[in-house]
Amino acid sequence: MTEPVLAGPRPAISEIDVPSLAAWLSARGEPAYRAGQILSGAHRPDAAAFDDLTELPRTLRRALAADFRFSTIADSHVMGADGGMTAKAVHELADGQRIESVLMRYPARGAAGERTTICISSQAGCAVACPFCATGQAGFGRQLTPGEIVDQVLHWHRPPWNALGGAGRGHYNIVFMGMGEPLNNADRAFEAVRLLNDPQRLGIGARHITVSTSGVVPGMDRMITELPQVNLAISLHAATDELRDELVPINRKWPLREVVAAGRRFAARTGRRVSLEYVMIDGLNDTDEQASRLAALARGWRSHVNLIPLNPTPGSRWSGTPRTRIDRFVATLRAGGVPTTVRDTRGREIEAACGQLHAQLSGRSLREAREAAALPVASA
Ligand code: SAH
Ligand code: SF4
Repeated sequence: MTEPVLAGPRPAISEIDVPSLAAWLSARGEPAYRAGQILSGAHRPDAAAFDDLTELPRTLRRALAADFRFSTIADSHVMGADGGMTAKAVHELADGQRIESVLMRYPARGAAGERTTICISSQAGCAVACPFCATGQAGFGRQLTPGEIVDQVLHWHRPPWNALGGAGRGHYNIVFMGMGEPLNNADRAFEAVRLLNDPQRLGIGARHITVSTSGVVPGMDRMITELPQVNLAISLHAATDELRDELVPINRKWPLREVVAAGRRFAARTGRRVSLEYVMIDGLNDTDEQASRLAALARGWRSHVNLIPLNPTPGSRWSGTPRTRIDRFVATLRAGGVPTTVRDTRGREIEAACGQLHAQLSGRSLREAREAAALPVASA
């Protein structure tokens, strides 16, 4: 590269800021207003390559394609499930690391229109090592850059998915519930949120974004001041330290008392309801005792409990709690005054839980995986 702004690998759209783009344009003798044109064009739902920005002269499109990448994602393998309502992608990054994101569509119900949720990763792997989680079992790879986090959303925004495009943009959510612990990569995850918010880019409102954490207390406190409009979800999974030390090992560093106190601070300071996530594991954390202890932790502040039946990882020693016991757990929580929901489990046939598809594909190229796939497949 000759331009000084282009030291290092070719930056992607998600990694360029307006001043660098303006400097690049000025070095080519192009007017500065092109920077806004390029950014907004590259975020249109119908744009799949620089060549689609037909409002730009052809020579400029060619120069952009030579000096920039359209995405930090080098390749994606996509599998569909639930009659096309769920799609999961394994993305390969420039250095070969693989991460996952999931698109879930929910049909219109009553007055509510169609809703879309995009679940994204914040790290390649995860160091927290929760024993029920496929990502945790695979260990830590590396931190994702802000661009790599944002490009997972852009993947589903662009053709052929157009998940955020056009009308109904109000009815979608972005959740940091893929691979990784976002608050162990807080600077980059927060920067990704700001990029997603940027009106010159996707313009996604903070209230449509949820950060899920295993309980990194300093990161939760940073959210109060830095991202007060973003939703917070805490992966609790146990209501005693003894059990939580085993299920969410980071509990040895920040025990339940501190995690719940941080959740209460967030709720009190932001006025926002905190979601307490609880994976239901048969015979382990689904007892009456855990239910009443959980009710005591969740009661009296702006929280609600979201129960998730375990999606067992291959070779798992655990299975999900049967429906009747989930109902009993729900009844105890509700009787204790705690708003409680049960999450519907999506994409079981495509291993949609955290890190599972990635684990299943290990050692195979994405091209081989695409060719071997029995389920409907699209590539990006
Ligand atoms: N590291 C963060 C965010 C990513 S995990 C966190 O733990 O909150 C996102 C959610 O998926 C967490 O609530 C996690 O507990 C859940 N999860 C992980 N493995 C699962 C499995 N096998 N079945 C059901 N949920 C799972
Ligand atoms: Fe990491 Fe979350 Fe999986 Fe635990 S559940 S290992 S924190 S990704």
